[in-house]
Amino acid sequence: MMSSALDGASLLVRFDDVGAVSPRLAQVWAVLERHGAPLNLEVVPGWMNEGAAVSLSERAKRSHVSVVVHQHGADHVNHGTDNRRFEFDDSRGVDTQFADIQRGRAWLEASLPDLFEPVFSPPWNRYGVSTLKALVRAEFSLFSSMVRPNAPTHPSLTCIPMTVDPVRWRPVPKHQPWIDTLGELVWALERDGYAGLELHHEVMTDEDIEELDRLLETLRVRGVRYPPMIAIADRARCK
Ligand SMILES: [Zn+2]
Repeated sequence: MMSSALDGASLLVRFDDVGAVSPRLAQVWAVLERHGAPLNLEVVPGWMNEGAAVSLSERAKRSHVSVVVHQHGADHVNHGTDNRRFEFDDSRGVDTQFADIQRGRAWLEASLPDLFEPVFSPPWNRYGVSTLKALVRAEFSLFSSMVRPNAPTHPSLTCIPMTVDPVRWRPVPKHQPWIDTLGELVWALERDGYAGLELHHEVMTDEDIEELDRLLETLRVRGVRYPPMIAIADRARCK
């Protein structure tokens, strides 16, 4: 019989790069619902319009799990000039980054008022000290990112760490074997009682979606729970 060492461990699933409700997004959404996992939708404001906001709100109303919208950057535009992609970085200065962050937040608050929860997730998991200053000025107290060594911090901001990105992005985005993703998650869940999984629905194939379903079933049987992201902020840190 499989170990039950994961009883009560917390899994956070973050649904990145959300814009309009596409067929692929709907498929992954249904898998998370089936497992009782809350939908943490990292929405890119610049990819949305009012129609997309209405369809997202309507889909959320039909959901039997909690659905929240966080802010994933502003336009998800790459301002880097080499392999290192970023939308937010010290090279852009606090004022410029603040203007982008503020514009995105204002749009989400106005268009998805019932779903928006003030958490910022920087595209490509990139940010600098100045990005964090801009976030504080835009009245954020929470952000979420993959754990990176020597990442900057700010005393007014709590970082909710993500631990597993199952996609190998280069040369062409492709999921690593799902058995490896399961292994990485179990390792973190056993060690820390917590793991954060990033999903990118548009690079998932039908087979990846089936594999995700199986992975979540395996973790469910072993007793993993899905607290809301904000509850995790009290117990998890990026350092
Ligand atoms: Zn992204």
